[in-house]
Amino acid sequence: MPELHGIGVSPGRAAGAVLHLAPPPSLPARSAVVDAEQERDTVRRAAAAVAAELTRRAEAALDSTAAEVLHAQVLMATDDMLTEAAFAAIEAGSPAPHALSEALAEHRAAFEAAGGYLAERIADLDDLRDRLVAACLGLPMPGIPSPGHPFVLVARDLAPADTAGLDPSVVLGLITAEGGPTSHTAILARTLGIPAVVRCSGVSDIADLTLVVVDGSSGTVAVGLRDDDVRQVNAAEAELRTARAASAGPGQTADGHPVALLANIGSARDLTGDVEGVGLFRTELLYLDRTDPPTEQEQVEAYTAVFAALPGRKVVVRTLDAGADKPLPFLRLAGEPNPALGVRGLRVAHRRPDVLSTQLAAIATAAAATEADVWVMAPMVATASEAAEFTQACRAHGLPTAGVMIEVPAAALRAPAILRDADFLSLGTNDLSQYTFAADRMCGDLAELLDPWQPALIALIAACATAGTQAGKPVGVCGESAADPDFALVLAGLGITSLSMAPRSIPAVRESLAAHTLQECRQIAKAALAADTPEAARAAARRTA
Ligand code: PEP
Ligand code: MG
Repeated sequence: MPELHGIGVSPGRAAGAVLHLAPPPSLPARSAVVDAEQERDTVRRAAAAVAAELTRRAEAALDSTAAEVLHAQVLMATDDMLTEAAFAAIEAGSPAPHALSEALAEHRAAFEAAGGYLAERIADLDDLRDRLVAACLGLPMPGIPSPGHPFVLVARDLAPADTAGLDPSVVLGLITAEGGPTSHTAILARTLGIPAVVRCSGVSDIADLTLVVVDGSSGTVAVGLRDDDVRQVNAAEAELRTARAASAGPGQTADGHPVALLANIGSARDLTGDVEGVGLFRTELLYLDRTDPPTEQEQVEAYTAVFAALPGRKVVVRTLDAGADKPLPFLRLAGEPNPALGVRGLRVAHRRPDVLSTQLAAIATAAAATEADVWVMAPMVATASEAAEFTQACRAHGLPTAGVMIEVPAAALRAPAILRDADFLSLGTNDLSQYTFAADRMCGDLAELLDPWQPALIALIAACATAGTQAGKPVGVCGESAADPDFALVLAGLGITSLSMAPRSIPAVRESLAAHTLQECRQIAKAALAADTPEAARAAARRTA
């Protein structure tokens, strides 16, 4: 059976038929309108087909927000004003796809001028235009296919907008030609527990409906199976997942050394299963796609929903991490030639102190109203003075446990100084890799540099862990590297006190820790730390395990 190779970024195996993510259609060269009535008919048919497809998706949507957006798109697609505007464009000489595109461009301009909520809906209008144009041209609908049966999704890469509402019971596996271990695709796949392989060369040539097995642990894709193989792989995988999910309890090594296994979440909806706590609550979700910041009350509600679900447990809230890979329109930050090195993370608070203070006030109100053990941390801290300023702001808002993320090498080098004020550190290894290796985390071509087994990254993690041990303060890891069951042994051996990851990754890491004593983890860490390349570090760790 032929096999393709890529990088496994979300473990597990899934088998099924391949379907490609269709790209948005381009408008063909404009031709003269010969039969206006025929063009009007094409417009009517396209609107009806798109409305029917969106209605079907709205009915199947898992969450109410996605369903609402889809219903709103149905209303737009069938709006008489849109049809009339398209008919007028046909009268003026535009064929159906161009006429719809022009009619929607008018709506778009009106939405943009209106600002506020309507301006936030522009992406939905653009999506609707792509769908209507595709329907006119007889092309497949752009975006995630909805064939009515489960499938393995293949794409060049996935943008966050492609993946809203992605349903893991329908999308069995993900394969992308591009992307890297810290790309959106990888993070999303791990969050949803979908086996995924990125940077898989040759995947674009697999025909739709070919049967494949995606192995997100080994990074391979087997092509050309029989139905029987598909059933067998999926049954074995389901059995393994059920057995793993049944394993519960706090994270610890075989000899009982605790390493808390915490969840990375973006909202209360991501809390699945019984978790020890939350190690990274990414609060950006509340702010995405907005032209005005969420009000303090909106924030109180969102934070309360998470805290109330975890009475007596730790919840580490990260304050707003805006900029670079997480652009937030409401901040209206000036364009920057190099946003990853610009005003992002905590740096935004210097330009907009109101945004941070409102957020801290909302977190404090929600914490006071619930019984969660609420910790707060800032992203993208570079110096000990920034850390001190942030922890003071937290305490002034009545938030007693304040720490910082270590994502910038300068901060890792100054961990002992930072820990004079901060109560804890949390290592964001996605950004720490990016900044240590000067390698854009979204750039699949640089995946080798972004490998967490790189000796320089391990050395920085070790320095932070040692600083934590000396200060008697916790140091966790909340980047994607924490979800690697083998790397988790290195982290535990270095003295990392908690690992935070997508909830679905926790069982495999728990299993790995439980199979090794702390002493073994220390030896594995020592072997990895002494290696000169990521491959040597992996091999040394495996030999020692
Ligand atoms: C990180 O950088 O490792 C991290 C956890 O933060 P994010 O992925 O949200 O930037
Ligand atoms: Mg980060």
